[in-house]
Amino acid sequence: MSAFSLKNGQLHAESVPLAEIAARFGTPCYIYSRAALEDSLDEFLHELAGIDSLVCYAMKANSNLAVLSVFARRGAGFDIVSGGELKRALAAGADPKKIVFSGVGKTAAEMSLALSTGILCFNVESAPELERLNDVAASLGRRAPISLRVNPNVDAKTHPYISTGLKENKFGVAYEDALAIYRHAASLPHLEIIGIDCHIGSQLLDPAPFDEALDKLLLLIDQLAANGIALHHIDLGGGLGIRYQDEEAPSVKSYLQPLLHKLKQRGLKILLEPGRRLVGNAGVLLTRVEYLKQGEAKNFAIVDAAMNDLARPALYDAWHDIVPVAPRQSAVSHWDVVGPICESGDFLGRQRALAIAAGDLLAILSAGAYGMAMSSNYNSRPRAAEVMVDGSQIHLVRRRESVEELYSSESLLP
Ligand SMILES: *Cc1c(COP(=O)(O)O)cnc(C)c1O
Repeated sequence: MSAFSLKNGQLHAESVPLAEIAARFGTPCYIYSRAALEDSLDEFLHELAGIDSLVCYAMKANSNLAVLSVFARRGAGFDIVSGGELKRALAAGADPKKIVFSGVGKTAAEMSLALSTGILCFNVESAPELERLNDVAASLGRRAPISLRVNPNVDAKTHPYISTGLKENKFGVAYEDALAIYRHAASLPHLEIIGIDCHIGSQLLDPAPFDEALDKLLLLIDQLAANGIALHHIDLGGGLGIRYQDEEAPSVKSYLQPLLHKLKQRGLKILLEPGRRLVGNAGVLLTRVEYLKQGEAKNFAIVDAAMNDLARPALYDAWHDIVPVAPRQSAVSHWDVVGPICESGDFLGRQRALAIAAGDLLAILSAGAYGMAMSSNYNSRPRAAEVMVDGSQIHLVRRRESVEELYSSESLLP
């Protein structure tokens, strides 16, 4: 994580001291590094150089407009899962011809919006969705470009909440049914079959399941060809993991090389949908210690960020490293770092060895993915500010929400 490093005893984002951001914009505050975002996308682009390919950033991981625009300017496309994400992507300058639309519950209104926008592809997740899309396209006098999301039934060996490629998951069509559903799709006049896709899970640290999934898709592609259905692209989804604690995250190269090798000579355009890998380690959540509370059984560091700002610890028992912004030389104690929310699940880290005092700033690392994007207003807490650092420049890319905004769309009874 070179974008966030200690210089003269102070944690910086690129060349900006985090303490300066806290002083200007307050805490809690998400901070992203533009260089880190660009570097992570470039890792993919480098491996794909000279290959007919498209990286579609899975924007649900972090949908701040400034983050999206960093990727759009570098030529990335987007993987969206709602009409809201489509509008966001377009507001950030996305090219509609580089947008793929995933998700199991696309409404007719969302399909219609995406069709009139002229997106690249609908990643269809069920047989009934095909029928609806065909109807919507007919009503607009268009043909909808489609791919079927096939569930290859491989075990991604990740947290059950973020594993998506097993039979019991709600995503995609069963591998065994895919050929029949493709044949049916080919008979629907307002659909145009252009691809196949899969997404087997998130935070994968072993590249083997990707390889297994690709083998299954390639078999299916051969069967499709034998049935007169030729595809233009293959979309291998996202899911590549990052280092949160001491995991060995595979390099993009070691993940992609075996896949690219198998895809050589196939004549298929290659689409990828990385989310977490592009943004996770490009962001931190900055928070301030409000109180140190020494309990009988435990010590609590009560900070001003909470599970509404960063849900991953409460939701998945996920680990995020927590480091002081200005490390002290004093003795270390063990602290449960918790927020002010009235839930025992409101923790950001447990039993962390830290030398801290009330008023200190802490950085919660690897918070760029599924952080702000999953935040809520629970306990009527306004959402955090977001800042993008670019070299020595500081850009406020989302101002802190006000309390009044939280209830501005509510009304009293007459
Ligand atoms: C969430 C999601 C992704 C991105 O997953 P990451 O683990 O963040 O890379 C890609 N494709 C689809 C369909 C998704 O739902």
